[in-house]
Amino acid sequence: MKNLTLTVIGKNVENSLSPSVHEFIAQKLGYSVNYKKISIAENDFDGKIEKLFSDFDGFNVTIPYKIPVMAHLEKLVGDAEVLGAVNTVKTAGRQGFNTDGDGFVLSLKAEGIDVKNTQTLVLGAGGAGRCVAKKLSGLGASVDIFDRHFDKALQVSNSFNGINAVTDINEKPYFFIVNATGCGMRSIDDSPAPISVLSQCEVAYDLIYSPPKSKFLRFAEESGKKIINGFPMLFYQAYFSECIYSDLPLDFGVARELYFEYLKVKK
Ligand code: NAP
Repeated sequence: MKNLTLTVIGKNVENSLSPSVHEFIAQKLGYSVNYKKISIAENDFDGKIEKLFSDFDGFNVTIPYKIPVMAHLEKLVGDAEVLGAVNTVKTAGRQGFNTDGDGFVLSLKAEGIDVKNTQTLVLGAGGAGRCVAKKLSGLGASVDIFDRHFDKALQVSNSFNGINAVTDINEKPYFFIVNATGCGMRSIDDSPAPISVLSQCEVAYDLIYSPPKSKFLRFAEESGKKIINGFPMLFYQAYFSECIYSDLPLDFGVARELYFEYLKVKK
């Protein structure tokens, strides 16, 4: 049976669910992976990154290395090139991919959320906000983006068509609001939007999965709205990454089956 040696790298990946998710997906797809977690301090990144190319078949990249890793690659493929960020590296050929956006889109599809012709709001204009805003616009939504640094929101709106940077999130009701700020991850009492804004939406989506129900999601749930946390996106982006590592074709039906099976077995 084929065996791949993989890892996730980031500043602090101690609590990452990636090993569990990747090993599960690989086993179900008919091969095995030995998946590690490597936390790298920012001042150590350039010294440590090169060794990964000889030690691993591939690696996933998380905060804050999705952009710095690109300097070590020879080729950017698909969304990695469009978004200017990489979350999946195949070491053969030093190729960089970004599966976050496809993971997000698949999670919406799996939840039966159709954003076409709706008003949507993205909170946070970092790497994830940029990716999610671009995908929502590609799905035919009207997209507003807000960040506490307006210049970052403006940068996203200047990079892609159909995305508006806003300074006030109270001006209109939104069908779909996504939290891509990371606010609420460390403190369960913080939300990037007040209940007055969340009570007007239909779907609230938080990219955070730990805690599973952030204050942002609790505000929406208390108002009777549909809520989704970041776990489905994490799972589906991992599925896309595994298909890249193992050269398998993507299959939405298989991805969805595996997701529900994982929930049954692991949660
Ligand atoms: P990032 O680059 O740090 O971007 C977050 C942006 O939001 C920053 O500009 C930040 O400003 C801003 N921000 C923070 N708190 C805010 C607030 N209260 N109101 C408005 N803006 C605020 O982070 P990222 O890489 O985009 O990731 C964002 C989140 O998505 C993280 O929690 C990450 O774990 C999650 N994520 C999840 C998945 C998944 O598969 N579920 C995938 C990717 C990312 P400052 O720079 O001043 O802090």
